[in-house]
Amino acid sequence: MVTNQPIIELENIKKTYRTSADIETKALRGISLAINEGDFVAIMGASGSGKSSLMSIIGLLDRQFEGTYKLNGKEIAELSDNQLSELRSESIGFIFQQFNLLKRTSVLENVLLPTTYKSGPDDERRALQAIKQVGLEKFINNHTSQLSGGQMQRVAIARALMMNPSILLADEPTGNLDHNTAHEIMELFKKINKQGTTIVLITHEDDIADFADRKLALFDGQFRKERSR
Ligand code: ADP
Ligand code: MG
Repeated sequence: MVTNQPIIELENIKKTYRTSADIETKALRGISLAINEGDFVAIMGASGSGKSSLMSIIGLLDRQFEGTYKLNGKEIAELSDNQLSELRSESIGFIFQQFNLLKRTSVLENVLLPTTYKSGPDDERRALQAIKQVGLEKFINNHTSQLSGGQMQRVAIARALMMNPSILLADEPTGNLDHNTAHEIMELFKKINKQGTTIVLITHEDDIADFADRKLALFDGQFRKERSR
């Protein structure tokens, strides 16, 4: 039976940061959202609108929020911290604006990083496959500092793909790239999405969001009306 259940289900999510006893910032003010398996969703919004806060919650990096979040049908408030980090490492791959690579280290070693704490006999084969998927097979033994920005982001994408996540979360992944390189990276995301990976992409640029099938705009911690394509 096809249940057609969303992979990500957020209901009335609120996030408040308290920096001191009398200062609080309402970063998210009641976000409800369902994302289906295989979706490619762009979340847009100006700086400070709450994009990264939402990303941290979806990515199971932040469990201090109000509202309910179900990932793959699992209510995450019911999970222990250990169960949560296990679920995170098996389901979610992260990609950031800063590529967060180790510098004087080869492409292969960077891609193998997620296996440091949980290694298996199959790691190198999967790493090589991920490197091939992002088109860097000629650079396997190069240090990442020898690569261009676009190539560095490809390494970060391969590192995320290495664990075979069902969801890729990318926070402004093209923010440090020139226009053409940014579009090449978006073509790569598109290809990965077509192979079945659900993608949630954060950007404040329209031409980047246009690569997604669904665009959502955050304004001051809330969604504006959805524009679908
Ligand atoms: P965006 O990614 O869209 O720029 P953020 O989610 O980073 O937005 O921030 C939303 C709001 O929450 C902003 O007002 C920001 O200053 C505030 N904020 C974000 N992170 C923190 C934090 N760790 N502590 C206090 N305030 C924060
Ligand atoms: Mg941000």
